[in-house]
Amino acid sequence: MLILLAAALLAAPPAHAASTCHGTPARGRLDAGCVLPPVGPNFTAYSPLGVFLLRTWSHCAVRDTVTAAYAELVRQHPRRIWVYGEAGLPAGGGFWPHRTHQNGLSVDFMTPLRDADGPRPLPMGLAGGFGYGVELDRRGRLGDAHIDAAAIGDHLLALAAAAEARGLRVAKVIFDPALRRQVERARPAVKGLPFTRKRVWVRHDDHYHVDFALPCAP
Ligand SMILES: [Zn+2]
Repeated sequence: MLILLAAALLAAPPAHAASTCHGTPARGRLDAGCVLPPVGPNFTAYSPLGVFLLRTWSHCAVRDTVTAAYAELVRQHPRRIWVYGEAGLPAGGGFWPHRTHQNGLSVDFMTPLRDADGPRPLPMGLAGGFGYGVELDRRGRLGDAHIDAAAIGDHLLALAAAAEARGLRVAKVIFDPALRRQVERARPAVKGLPFTRKRVWVRHDDHYHVDFALPCAP
């Protein structure tokens, strides 16, 4: 009996194998996705409404990657509460107003700010579109706060490491080019990440978009 049980446990696929992504972020869907935890020790979702509307679902391996990266960042940034944005719907598919986020492999992360006193979150209220309506200036400033380039760099590197540990990789990062250069100066290692060089249809200043990659079904 014990041997059977042990064999069953050994044969059990890793938890994330429960999800199956189909197609691409721009045209796809998701089977058996996972919801991102609405709050964690050092992170929170962008909006309770977004969570309620089931807009924070992803492939389970992506969920595991996101939470593992946050766990790693507790040591580097003990005072920071990170905020993630939209991910996808439980079954993927069209995700207005995004053009991607369709197959469980895309997650938005709200840009961390800092002021003279230390970490500061992006204003996340309804009036500011839960963060998505915030406009930073060309140099990444918002009032007396500015982007925390080192924190963004550390987060992206933690995501890349957590992805690799789970057999995924970071396939694309979208972030405002001028702000990306600040991140590259703060954390040169991010130059190895696949930042998109193409113009994108919305300025990505209040958040950075990450596509993960793993083998998907057609
Ligand atoms: Zn996005």
